[in-house]
Amino acid sequence: MYRTKNNGELRLADVGKQVTLCGWVQRSRDLGGMTFVDLRDRYGITQIVFNMETDAALCGKARELGREYVVQIKGTVAERSNKNAKIPTGDIEILATEITVLNPSKIPPFTIENHSDGGDELRMKYRYLDLRRDCVRQNLVLRHRLSIEIRKYMDEQGFMEIETPFMVKSTPEGARDFVVPSRMNPGEFYALPQSPQQYKQLLMVAGMDRYFQIVRCFRDEDLRADRQPEFTQLDCEMSFVEQEDVLQMFEGLMRHLFKVEKNIDLPPLQRMTWQTAMDKYGSDKPDLRFGMEFHALKEVFPQGKFSLFDQSEWVGGICVEGASEYTRKQLDELTDFVKRPQVGAGGLIYIKCNTDGTYKSSVDKFFDADDLKRVAEACGAKAGDLILILAGKASKTKVSLGQLRLEMGNRLNLRDPFNYKVLWIVDFPLLEWDEEAGRFFAMHHPFTAPKPEDEAMLETEPGKVRANAYDMVINGVEVGGGSIRIHSRDLQKRMFRALGFSDEEAQKQFGFLMNAFEYGAPPHGGLAFGFDRLCALFGGEDSIRDYIAFPKNNAGRDTMSESPSPISQAQLDELFLKSTAEKRD
Ligand code: ASP
Repeated sequence: MYRTKNNGELRLADVGKQVTLCGWVQRSRDLGGMTFVDLRDRYGITQIVFNMETDAALCGKARELGREYVVQIKGTVAERSNKNAKIPTGDIEILATEITVLNPSKIPPFTIENHSDGGDELRMKYRYLDLRRDCVRQNLVLRHRLSIEIRKYMDEQGFMEIETPFMVKSTPEGARDFVVPSRMNPGEFYALPQSPQQYKQLLMVAGMDRYFQIVRCFRDEDLRADRQPEFTQLDCEMSFVEQEDVLQMFEGLMRHLFKVEKNIDLPPLQRMTWQTAMDKYGSDKPDLRFGMEFHALKEVFPQGKFSLFDQSEWVGGICVEGASEYTRKQLDELTDFVKRPQVGAGGLIYIKCNTDGTYKSSVDKFFDADDLKRVAEACGAKAGDLILILAGKASKTKVSLGQLRLEMGNRLNLRDPFNYKVLWIVDFPLLEWDEEAGRFFAMHHPFTAPKPEDEAMLETEPGKVRANAYDMVINGVEVGGGSIRIHSRDLQKRMFRALGFSDEEAQKQFGFLMNAFEYGAPPHGGLAFGFDRLCALFGGEDSIRDYIAFPKNNAGRDTMSESPSPISQAQLDELFLKSTAEKRD
């Protein structure tokens, strides 16, 4: 037997026991007569003591151990004189009687500690060492627990976990596909699924009634901290349901997860329409950990005094509590922030509601104190507050102001990662106009059903049709989204027409789903959660990378295995592909 105990389980009650432990040398300290070794494994750290007086040879061996050596140690559990309250095994130590080096180690390229000296690139290259760090491993433990709890809940609710294929048909809607060439079908390709959307709908046609899957999805998009080319979804679908049934079911799941993982009793989730979210927060994923809601000000400022406001479709502001003392420099920083291309505003207007009851603004030239007072009242501002205002085209300016709102939330520390605000966004528009392409795109996906009361507008005013689509938002992050689906072939056809597909094109791309609708498709709907994001949120972090065992970097590369990588000419030939060298000339 390699070991009788692990490094996290021995306590005072075990004093006197003979034990065998295995693990990695976290560190060793040589204090003359004594050598201490911290032995680490997945379960914890146990202190091992070697005594020069009782066994000089053994102590000598211990002194030669390097960091990350894999060793086996035999010894007796003893009470420590110098206890360490910070670790669960801190009351005991092992008086070693034997030591075996199972495998030596090179000096690791960074310290295996919670605060490591390794930069991101180095940590990714040696991810197997990075994963030895307690903080990273804990993230995977959390991920595991959440997946188990999800499976328990889903099973209790009668959902079946069913696997869907990873080699599927490439479809033009949605993000870019990763494709896989087919050797047996020269010149043809599979795609890796962006989601199992059509398969789960087919499972409903097949009568499975309630399906779920914790499943990898693939999207060839530009990467950010919260995006990976392959990521995991909790994917779900239900038959004979309306939107309300889906919302209730998954509100229940979230309540279960928060209860078991955080001991938080979630209140009934707030529901906000997409329109309200855009009007009040400039975002379809509003962060409700703080207020700072928008105030529409175009009608509040008097007309004819300031041409910028007169010409702007929308003028809106937020009231930042207690920030009237912001300095010139701070206001300049905010102006620079809103002018960044990612935010895209032309400039920033402010009104300081001074503590002495006077006002100071960047538009003092145009408006008198009474005007400013009226604006301050409309914003609910008190003495000591700062009002920040943007003006321009309505939809774009609201989004910019939403970004400024989040920036102010950050600056004022209003975004505590462990203060969870969970809500549903409902009533999304069905379609979204794309200027560049000159056509409508499905806001969620083309299988989403319009609200029955809006269906008639699909041909006449497609932009006005609302969908039975919903997103779950936690702390400004979209963690999940879904919809009630179209289940009639006719309506699906009309939807494809609205998206600019001819009937032939639609049949070619999506025929297998539309044909299935002719064989008794039940009404159905569902949603999918971003599982990596959910884990990161529960862990209180923004980046999903450390919740995935082997993530890719920002360029979509796995720097550890060095993929992607070129393949041999023989492989290329077999797949009927030209090499990039040939393609270039
Ligand atoms: N398949 C959708 C997605 O990946 C989710 C859904 O509608 O169920 O976003």
